[in-house]
Amino acid sequence: MSDPRRLAILGATGSIGRQALDVVREVRGSFPIEIIALAAGTNVEALAALAREFGVSHLGVAGPEEAARLRSLLPQAKVVAGPEGLAQLASLPVADLVLNAVVGAAGLFPTLAALEAGKTLLLANKESLVIGGELVLGARRRPDQIIPVDSEHAALFQLLSGLEGAEVERAWITASGGPFRNRRPADLGSVTPAQALAHPVWPMGRRITVDSATLVNKAFEVIEAHYLFGFPWDRIGVLVHPQACVHALVALADGSVLAQLSVPDMRIPIRAALTHPHRLPPPRPLSLPGLNLTFEALDPQLYPGYAVVLEAGQRGGTCPAAANAADEVLVEAFLRGEIPFPAIAEGIGATLSAHHPVPVESLTDVLEADRWARARARDWVAMRRQRE
Ligand code: NDP
Ligand code: MG
Repeated sequence: MSDPRRLAILGATGSIGRQALDVVREVRGSFPIEIIALAAGTNVEALAALAREFGVSHLGVAGPEEAARLRSLLPQAKVVAGPEGLAQLASLPVADLVLNAVVGAAGLFPTLAALEAGKTLLLANKESLVIGGELVLGARRRPDQIIPVDSEHAALFQLLSGLEGAEVERAWITASGGPFRNRRPADLGSVTPAQALAHPVWPMGRRITVDSATLVNKAFEVIEAHYLFGFPWDRIGVLVHPQACVHALVALADGSVLAQLSVPDMRIPIRAALTHPHRLPPPRPLSLPGLNLTFEALDPQLYPGYAVVLEAGQRGGTCPAAANAADEVLVEAFLRGEIPFPAIAEGIGATLSAHHPVPVESLTDVLEADRWARARARDWVAMRRQRE
């Protein structure tokens, strides 16, 4: 057996982080992976339990208050805090691989730090590429340094390996359509947070689950694919595919279409990233007989947030950072019952209309757009509530 891979997991207490740790436990006998650092936001007790189980001493949390609580639970641990702390963990000399499974804009710091330190980055935090795509590409030291974890991009990564760029005419990523696929647009005003959080296929964290109901997540994923694989905007599209077995497709110059299929289980792309380029047996095999696959065009009336966010990606500069920040604020406001579901897309649109984008030349440009858009979206929510 070869030396274990040494892995830092940021966002260890979340949906992706926990599934990654499940994979590490499952493959232990055949493919040892040593966890050398773990980070979370505020869930200090859960992080301490994972640190004890995996014998990890390098730990990170969201801020100084959480760091103090963690130190009281684990006095021997080396605890860092905040975005700089995440960046420190992502560049630890002892790490070979960094899994960035932090949610939101906070993930950009460790993405850049891991790339600059030459680590192989297993990227779940799509926000890194959405808000800072050009910075991320600029920090990349080698073409294969980022291994995507997002299922559609993990699929494209597999489909494109071995193909010449010129052979590929077009690519699609799929969307299950979320919990409101069969609703009428006019009915969305009355859907509840609990209904938006009940995704029909994928169990995920709260923010991405709501983004998968608005399809803002799918616009983020098109932007992610644009930066990761260099697809021009008119050659990457979305198909609604409720069975969620086909994750991506590519059309080749000779009319062939290649697709990647697997059961919808995030442990498959997580496992593929952790063990790349080796392939281990799946947690669940895909059974083909009786499988009915359907593909539909996306209904723009039902998912207005998709077009708003995609346009922000296409405009570029600080627009996607503003869209992401507004979405983070608006999703939280929806989950707190402060705004109805359609107001998420409306609020992103209103924030973007007021945004004066600048080209992204440094992290400061992204952070300033992020700060501005959060404040603007909060004001928009407050004004909307006053009008009611
Ligand atoms: P979760 O909300 O389940 O988990 C988020 C993780 O990030 C938690 O460990 C959380 O810690 C941590 N975190 C939050 N804020 C901070 C912060 N400021 N500093 C440090 N850590 C922080 O999210 P998911 O696992 O669902 O998603 C993670 C990322 O992966 C997202 O970018 C998402 O878009 C992407 N992704 C997720 C998929 C999924 O199936 N879940 C599929 C494809 C992509 P704490 O528990 O303490 O709050
Ligand atoms: Mg995805």
